[in-house]
Amino acid sequence: RVKREDFMNALEEVQPAFGVAKEELEQVVQNGIIHYSPIVDEILRSGELFVDQVRVSTRTPLVSVLLHGPPGSGKTALAATIAQSSQYPFMKLLSPDSMVGFSEAQKVASIAKVFQDSYKSPLSVIVVDNLERLLDFTPIGPRFSNSVLQTLMVLLARRPPKGRRLLILATSSNRPVLTDLGLSEIFDAELRVPPIATLRALDIVLREVELFQRDDERRRAVGMLAQAGFSDAEDADAMDARTTVGIKKLLSMVEMARQEPDAAAERLMSALMGLGM
Ligand code: ATP
Ligand code: MG
Repeated sequence: RVKREDFMNALEEVQPAFGVAKEELEQVVQNGIIHYSPIVDEILRSGELFVDQVRVSTRTPLVSVLLHGPPGSGKTALAATIAQSSQYPFMKLLSPDSMVGFSEAQKVASIAKVFQDSYKSPLSVIVVDNLERLLDFTPIGPRFSNSVLQTLMVLLARRPPKGRRLLILATSSNRPVLTDLGLSEIFDAELRVPPIATLRALDIVLREVELFQRDDERRRAVGMLAQAGFSDAEDADAMDARTTVGIKKLLSMVEMARQEPDAAAERLMSALMGLGM
Protein backbone atom coordinates (compact mmCIF):
# COMPACT_ATOMS: atom_id res chain seq x y z
CA ARG A 1 0.00 0.00 0.00
CA VAL A 2 1.26 3.46 -0.79
CA LYS A 3 1.31 5.58 2.30
CA ARG A 4 1.23 9.32 2.53
CA GLU A 5 4.85 9.19 3.62
CA ASP A 6 5.89 7.45 0.39
CA PHE A 7 4.06 10.03 -1.60
CA MET A 8 5.84 12.85 0.22
CA ASN A 9 9.19 11.12 -0.28
CA ALA A 10 8.51 10.80 -3.97
CA LEU A 11 7.71 14.49 -4.17
CA GLU A 12 10.97 15.28 -2.49
CA GLU A 13 12.85 13.12 -4.93
CA VAL A 14 11.57 14.83 -8.03
CA GLN A 15 12.25 18.27 -6.64
CA PRO A 16 15.16 19.71 -8.56
CA ALA A 17 18.18 19.58 -6.28
CA PHE A 18 19.46 22.92 -7.53
CA GLY A 19 16.72 25.19 -6.31
CA VAL A 20 17.05 23.95 -2.76
CA ALA A 21 20.82 24.15 -2.85
CA LYS A 22 20.65 27.69 -4.11
CA GLU A 23 18.69 28.76 -1.06
CA GLU A 24 21.29 27.17 1.18
CA LEU A 25 24.00 29.17 -0.54
CA GLU A 26 22.00 32.37 -0.27
CA GLN A 27 21.39 31.82 3.41
CA VAL A 28 25.06 31.82 4.37
CA VAL A 29 25.60 35.18 2.69
CA GLN A 30 22.56 36.68 4.38
CA ASN A 31 24.49 39.69 5.61
CA GLY A 32 25.94 40.37 2.20
CA ILE A 33 29.55 41.02 1.34
CA ILE A 34 31.15 44.23 2.52
CA HIS A 35 34.12 45.30 0.44
CA TYR A 36 36.18 46.48 3.39
CA SER A 37 39.57 45.68 1.88
CA PRO A 38 41.15 45.07 -1.54
CA ILE A 39 41.75 41.52 -0.29
CA VAL A 40 38.03 40.82 -0.42
CA ASP A 41 37.90 41.72 -4.08
CA GLU A 42 41.07 39.78 -4.79
CA ILE A 43 39.58 36.63 -3.27
CA LEU A 44 36.35 37.03 -5.25
CA ARG A 45 38.32 37.73 -8.41
CA SER A 46 40.49 34.63 -7.91
CA GLY A 47 37.36 32.61 -7.34
CA GLU A 48 35.91 33.94 -10.57
CA LEU A 49 39.02 32.85 -12.45
CA PHE A 50 38.67 29.31 -11.12
CA VAL A 51 35.01 29.33 -12.15
CA ASP A 52 36.03 30.39 -15.66
CA GLN A 53 38.84 27.86 -15.78
CA VAL A 54 36.53 24.95 -15.00
CA ARG A 55 33.98 26.25 -17.50
CA VAL A 56 36.31 26.62 -20.49
CA SER A 57 39.35 24.45 -19.98
CA THR A 58 39.12 20.90 -21.23
CA ARG A 59 42.36 20.00 -19.48
CA THR A 60 41.14 20.65 -15.97
CA PRO A 61 37.76 18.98 -15.43
CA LEU A 62 38.42 19.15 -11.70
CA VAL A 63 39.68 22.16 -9.77
CA SER A 64 39.74 22.22 -5.99
CA VAL A 65 40.39 25.33 -3.94
CA LEU A 66 40.84 25.67 -0.19
CA LEU A 67 39.72 28.88 1.50
CA HIS A 68 41.37 29.06 4.88
CA GLY A 69 41.66 31.64 7.60
CA PRO A 70 40.86 32.27 11.25
CA PRO A 71 37.37 31.58 12.63
CA GLY A 72 34.78 34.05 11.43
CA SER A 73 36.93 35.67 8.76
CA GLY A 74 34.22 35.16 6.15
CA LYS A 75 35.28 31.95 4.43
CA THR A 76 31.87 30.37 4.08
CA ALA A 77 30.25 33.56 2.79
CA LEU A 78 33.01 34.12 0.23
CA ALA A 79 32.97 30.51 -0.97
CA ALA A 80 29.18 30.64 -1.29
CA THR A 81 29.35 33.95 -3.16
CA ILE A 82 31.84 32.53 -5.65
CA ALA A 83 29.73 29.40 -6.07
CA GLN A 84 26.53 31.37 -6.53
CA SER A 85 27.94 33.74 -9.08
CA SER A 86 29.22 30.82 -11.18
CA GLN A 87 25.64 30.19 -12.32
CA TYR A 88 26.61 26.56 -12.94
CA PRO A 89 23.60 24.27 -13.34
CA PHE A 90 24.58 22.31 -10.22
CA MET A 91 25.52 24.24 -7.09
CA LYS A 92 25.58 22.67 -3.68
CA LEU A 93 26.63 23.55 -0.16
CA LEU A 94 27.91 20.56 1.76
CA SER A 95 27.86 21.68 5.37
CA PRO A 96 28.30 19.98 8.75
CA ASP A 97 25.30 22.03 9.90
CA SER A 98 23.03 19.87 7.79
CA MET A 99 24.52 16.69 9.26
CA VAL A 100 23.93 17.25 12.94
CA GLY A 101 23.14 13.94 14.59
CA PHE A 102 24.29 11.92 11.60
CA SER A 103 26.22 8.74 12.21
CA GLU A 104 29.58 8.38 10.50
CA ALA A 105 28.03 6.11 7.91
CA GLN A 106 25.23 8.61 7.21
CA LYS A 107 27.77 11.38 6.79
CA VAL A 108 29.82 9.35 4.36
CA ALA A 109 26.68 8.47 2.43
CA SER A 110 25.43 12.03 2.17
CA ILE A 111 28.83 13.38 1.14
CA ALA A 112 29.09 10.68 -1.52
CA LYS A 113 25.56 11.46 -2.70
CA VAL A 114 26.36 15.12 -3.33
CA PHE A 115 29.35 14.18 -5.46
CA GLN A 116 27.33 11.51 -7.31
CA ASP A 117 24.63 14.06 -8.06
CA SER A 118 27.20 16.56 -9.30
CA TYR A 119 28.56 14.01 -11.79
CA LYS A 120 25.20 14.10 -13.58
CA SER A 121 25.60 17.77 -14.42
CA PRO A 122 28.01 18.98 -17.08
CA LEU A 123 29.18 21.78 -14.82
CA SER A 124 29.08 21.70 -11.03
CA VAL A 125 30.32 23.55 -8.02
CA ILE A 126 30.35 22.07 -4.52
CA VAL A 127 31.18 24.10 -1.42
CA VAL A 128 32.61 21.70 1.15
CA ASP A 129 32.21 23.83 4.23
CA ASN A 130 34.20 23.61 7.42
CA LEU A 131 36.32 20.57 6.67
CA GLU A 132 37.55 20.04 10.21
CA ARG A 133 34.00 19.93 11.53
CA LEU A 134 32.91 17.64 8.73
CA LEU A 135 35.73 15.38 9.87
CA ASP A 136 34.53 15.64 13.48
CA PHE A 137 37.97 16.81 14.42
CA THR A 138 38.59 17.33 18.15
CA PRO A 139 41.96 18.56 19.36
CA ILE A 140 41.60 16.40 22.43
CA GLY A 141 42.98 13.04 21.59
CA PRO A 142 43.19 14.25 18.83
CA ARG A 143 40.31 12.50 17.16
CA PHE A 144 38.53 12.61 13.84
CA SER A 145 36.39 10.42 11.66
CA ASN A 146 38.67 8.28 9.57
CA SER A 147 35.90 7.09 7.29
CA VAL A 148 34.87 10.67 6.47
CA LEU A 149 38.53 11.49 5.87
CA GLN A 150 39.00 8.57 3.51
CA THR A 151 35.80 9.48 1.65
CA LEU A 152 36.86 13.10 1.22
CA MET A 153 40.37 12.11 0.15
CA VAL A 154 38.93 10.05 -2.66
CA LEU A 155 36.15 12.43 -3.72
CA LEU A 156 38.23 15.61 -3.61
CA ALA A 157 40.78 14.07 -5.95
CA ARG A 158 38.51 12.04 -8.24
CA ARG A 159 38.09 13.35 -11.75
CA PRO A 160 34.44 13.55 -12.72
CA PRO A 161 33.26 11.29 -15.56
CA LYS A 162 34.04 12.23 -19.14
CA GLY A 163 32.38 15.45 -20.25
CA ARG A 164 31.68 16.56 -16.68
CA ARG A 165 33.45 19.36 -14.85
CA LEU A 166 33.59 20.12 -11.19
CA LEU A 167 34.80 22.99 -9.05
CA ILE A 168 35.28 22.26 -5.35
CA LEU A 169 35.50 25.15 -2.90
CA ALA A 170 36.41 23.94 0.57
CA THR A 171 36.74 26.01 3.74
CA SER A 172 38.73 25.51 6.91
CA SER A 173 39.78 27.44 10.01
CA ASN A 174 42.41 24.87 10.82
CA ARG A 175 44.79 24.41 7.96
CA PRO A 176 47.56 22.82 10.10
CA VAL A 177 45.22 19.97 10.96
CA LEU A 178 44.38 19.42 7.29
CA THR A 179 48.09 19.24 6.59
CA ASP A 180 48.58 16.69 9.36
CA LEU A 181 45.77 14.61 7.94
CA GLY A 182 47.27 14.75 4.45
CA LEU A 183 44.31 16.67 3.08
CA SER A 184 45.88 19.98 2.17
CA GLU A 185 48.10 18.57 -0.61
CA ILE A 186 44.99 17.48 -2.46
CA PHE A 187 43.96 21.04 -3.31
CA ASP A 188 45.01 22.69 -6.54
CA ALA A 189 45.04 26.14 -4.95
CA GLU A 190 44.59 27.95 -1.68
CA LEU A 191 43.08 31.32 -0.85
CA ARG A 192 43.84 32.87 2.50
CA VAL A 193 40.98 34.79 4.08
CA PRO A 194 42.50 37.15 6.63
CA PRO A 195 40.69 38.84 9.51
CA ILE A 196 40.13 42.59 9.69
CA ALA A 197 43.30 44.29 10.93
CA THR A 198 43.09 47.95 9.95
CA LEU A 199 41.16 50.99 11.11
CA ARG A 200 40.35 51.74 7.52
CA ALA A 201 38.59 48.41 7.08
CA LEU A 202 36.73 48.92 10.36
CA ASP A 203 35.63 52.33 9.17
CA ILE A 204 34.26 50.91 5.93
CA VAL A 205 32.34 48.21 7.77
CA LEU A 206 30.87 50.70 10.25
CA ARG A 207 29.82 52.94 7.40
CA GLU A 208 28.16 50.07 5.54
CA VAL A 209 26.18 48.83 8.52
CA GLU A 210 25.08 52.37 9.43
CA LEU A 211 25.67 51.94 13.14
CA PHE A 212 26.19 55.70 13.49
CA GLN A 213 23.91 58.35 12.09
CA ARG A 214 26.61 60.88 11.46
CA ASP A 215 30.05 60.65 9.85
CA ASP A 216 31.79 62.47 12.69
CA GLU A 217 30.30 60.05 15.22
CA ARG A 218 31.64 57.17 13.22
CA ARG A 219 35.06 58.73 12.84
CA ARG A 220 35.23 59.39 16.56
CA ALA A 221 34.43 55.74 17.21
CA VAL A 222 37.11 54.58 14.77
CA GLY A 223 39.58 56.94 16.45
CA MET A 224 38.81 55.26 19.76
CA LEU A 225 39.27 51.85 18.22
CA ALA A 226 42.90 52.66 17.46
CA GLN A 227 43.48 52.02 21.15
CA ALA A 228 42.09 48.54 20.78
CA GLY A 229 45.19 47.67 18.74
CA PHE A 230 44.07 47.89 15.14
CA SER A 231 46.64 49.13 12.66
CA ASP A 232 46.37 52.56 11.09
CA ALA A 233 48.60 51.56 8.19
CA GLU A 234 46.68 51.50 4.92
CA ASP A 235 47.90 48.15 3.70
CA ALA A 236 48.56 46.44 7.02
CA ASP A 237 47.78 42.79 7.35
CA ALA A 238 47.18 40.66 10.38
CA MET A 239 50.92 40.64 11.14
CA ASP A 240 51.10 44.39 11.79
CA ALA A 241 48.12 44.65 14.09
CA ARG A 242 47.90 43.78 17.76
CA THR A 243 44.23 43.08 17.37
CA THR A 244 42.28 41.54 14.56
CA VAL A 245 38.64 40.58 14.29
CA GLY A 246 36.73 38.37 11.93
CA ILE A 247 33.95 40.07 9.97
CA LYS A 248 31.44 37.60 11.42
CA LYS A 249 32.27 38.55 15.00
CA LEU A 250 32.48 42.24 14.15
CA LEU A 251 29.00 42.18 12.65
CA SER A 252 27.57 40.54 15.76
CA MET A 253 29.34 43.12 17.96
CA VAL A 254 27.79 45.84 15.84
CA GLU A 255 24.32 44.40 16.42
CA MET A 256 25.02 44.31 20.15
CA ALA A 257 26.16 47.92 20.12
CA ARG A 258 23.07 48.91 18.17
CA GLN A 259 20.94 47.97 21.17
CA GLU A 260 22.43 50.91 23.01
CA PRO A 261 22.43 53.83 20.56
CA ASP A 262 23.72 56.38 23.06
CA ALA A 263 26.79 54.38 23.94
CA ALA A 264 27.31 52.44 20.71
CA ALA A 265 30.94 53.50 20.33
CA GLU A 266 31.76 52.52 23.89
CA ARG A 267 29.99 49.19 23.62
CA LEU A 268 31.86 48.37 20.44
CA MET A 269 35.12 49.51 21.95
CA SER A 270 34.84 47.31 25.01
CA ALA A 271 33.85 44.32 22.91
CA LEU A 272 36.85 44.85 20.64
CA MET A 273 39.23 45.55 23.53
CA GLY A 274 38.39 42.12 24.88
CA LEU A 275 39.91 40.62 21.74
CA GLY A 276 43.36 42.13 22.14
CA MET A 277 44.06 40.47 25.44
P1 ATP B 1 33.54 30.15 10.69
O1 ATP B 1 35.03 30.20 10.96
O2 ATP B 1 32.73 30.23 11.95
O3 ATP B 1 33.14 29.06 9.77
P2 ATP B 1 33.47 31.96 8.45
O4 ATP B 1 34.89 32.38 8.28
O5 ATP B 1 32.97 30.91 7.55
O6 ATP B 1 33.19 31.55 9.96
P3 ATP B 1 31.12 33.34 7.70
O7 ATP B 1 30.24 32.33 8.30
O8 ATP B 1 31.25 33.37 6.24
O9 ATP B 1 32.57 33.27 8.34
O10 ATP B 1 30.62 34.75 8.24
C1 ATP B 1 30.84 35.95 7.61
C2 ATP B 1 29.65 36.85 7.78
O11 ATP B 1 30.02 38.18 7.44
C3 ATP B 1 28.50 36.48 6.86
O12 ATP B 1 27.30 36.77 7.53
C4 ATP B 1 28.66 37.44 5.68
O13 ATP B 1 27.44 37.76 5.06
C5 ATP B 1 29.26 38.65 6.35
N1 ATP B 1 30.21 39.41 5.50
C6 ATP B 1 30.18 40.72 5.28
N2 ATP B 1 31.19 41.11 4.52
C7 ATP B 1 31.92 40.02 4.25
C8 ATP B 1 33.09 39.81 3.49
N3 ATP B 1 33.74 40.78 2.89
N4 ATP B 1 33.55 38.56 3.42
C9 ATP B 1 32.91 37.57 4.04
N5 ATP B 1 31.79 37.71 4.77
C10 ATP B 1 31.28 38.93 4.87
MG1 MG C 1 32.30 28.99 7.95
